[in-house]
Amino acid sequence: MKKDCFVASLRWTALAAMTLCVNVAFADDVQSGWQQTKGQDFIVYYRSDVPDDFVQTTMDTAEDELKEITDNLGITNNQYWAWDSPAKIYIYSDHKDYVRNAGQAGWSHGAAFAKARTIKTYPEVQGFFDTILPHELGHIVFRDYIGYTVGVPLWFEEGVAIYQEKAKRLGAGDDVRAAIENGQFIPLTQLTGVRLYKDSKSQVVDLFYSESASAVYYMITELGEQEFYMFCNEIKNGTPFQDALHKVYLRFETIDDLNKAWVEYLQG
Ligand SMILES: [Zn+2]
Repeated sequence: MKKDCFVASLRWTALAAMTLCVNVAFADDVQSGWQQTKGQDFIVYYRSDVPDDFVQTTMDTAEDELKEITDNLGITNNQYWAWDSPAKIYIYSDHKDYVRNAGQAGWSHGAAFAKARTIKTYPEVQGFFDTILPHELGHIVFRDYIGYTVGVPLWFEEGVAIYQEKAKRLGAGDDVRAAIENGQFIPLTQLTGVRLYKDSKSQVVDLFYSESASAVYYMITELGEQEFYMFCNEIKNGTPFQDALHKVYLRFETIDDLNKAWVEYLQG
């Protein structure tokens, strides 16, 4: 399962360092040795040993995914939102270069810096265009839309990004069911408090991502796309997460109510 490290905004960097991951890198990589190519919505910076066709496919896929993600989030034709300036994508030589010079955790395959509208990653044989790129771009588009100062649980932020992946980690539900059965399951109310560090155990990291993926997948596909769009809009307008939940999904007064409905669905 692909994991990443997400920093919602530079203001959140210190918080993220304590919570989701240890992220000491700055969004702009000031090292020399970058080549670059500019497109309509993106600037791709890349190491000289990254193949040209990989760079071009990254640019093309990013442009396509931008359209798909805004469709998924129901914001394509929103008159109050626009992709104002190009986002940046840094492609490091390989995992070693990425971990060392982008300052990322060994379990991370990509990082998104939402406010800086920057993605950092490296070429990977499997899953780059279907998983990593849509996921990281999902983080950036979502925050560009809802704003950088509103607070949402990290599981929600990750779940939204995972939903942009081609396979949407459909097997995540099985992992969560197994966690419920073996007593490892973390209820949504507690999931926000989970801390991930560079040396976090892979079981904890995997379960965090599986639950995030499954919960948001449940919200979008079972509770309805239109409701999900309304819910995100409430958050964008400054309604606190739990209040927005109750306002849109009347039967959920608390996150715990959402948790119960989700678990019932999984155990269906
Ligand atoms: Zn992520």
